[in-house]
Amino acid sequence: MKGELLYEGKAKQVFKVSGNDSQLILSYKNDATAFNGIKKASFTGKGKYNNLISSKVFDFLHARGVKSHFERSLNETEQLVKRTKIVPVEVVVRNIAAGSITRRLGIPEKVEFAPPLVELYFKDDGLGDPIINDEHARLLTDLSEQELADVKTTALVINQHLSEFFSEVNLTLVDFKLEFGRNLNGEIILSDEVSPDTCRLWDKDTGEKMDKDVFREDLGDLLKVYEAILNRLEAVK
Ligand code: UDP
Repeated sequence: MKGELLYEGKAKQVFKVSGNDSQLILSYKNDATAFNGIKKASFTGKGKYNNLISSKVFDFLHARGVKSHFERSLNETEQLVKRTKIVPVEVVVRNIAAGSITRRLGIPEKVEFAPPLVELYFKDDGLGDPIINDEHARLLTDLSEQELADVKTTALVINQHLSEFFSEVNLTLVDFKLEFGRNLNGEIILSDEVSPDTCRLWDKDTGEKMDKDVFREDLGDLLKVYEAILNRLEAVK
């Protein structure tokens, strides 16, 4: 069933499905990178946790009516997804200040944003994923004005759903990154992954960081934290 390797990124491999051009297999790797690939490490088991957590998130979003590329989890580290052509824009939603916005704009960590902020970044490793505005996004992608507006609105809707989803397991959704892709019917749908690699999650009681910042900031055992998130989600849902 698994066909040739099409693409290998920092956190996932993408495989063809033999005899099937409308689906792909995503294989989650154990590698972790931060600061545009400068900091690297591998954690046995990380791929499994991200696959299982991301699968739960996509199932939840599907139940809430959000269309995505996700079909189903195939095994511990792999997912079957609809084939999309990824739009080279990373959409970040921020509820609370953390990470790059604290450095770029001097906003102290923990400052709350109401309404949440939506930011666009050009997905280009060579350029270090620079922040861009809507006009740049139109120039650099094939998104129409309406499609770009819809992507930003959908990101905010997803923020509401995911804030509730994580709140149920006592986690605050601080910020997260989404990627969208164009499917074979020409529609723009949510793609890529939603995991502790791509979200900031803080424990509601202790404020403990329970996401990739544990790796970025050397705060402790990344695997234990990812396992704890999966355990919390499995206990509830
Ligand atoms: N993020 C991501 N991939 C990227 C850049 C950011 O998944 O290439 C996520 C990151 O985990 C965080 C949010 O997007 O949840 C905002 O990231 P930020 O701009 O603060 O960058 P960072 O400081 O994490 O590099």
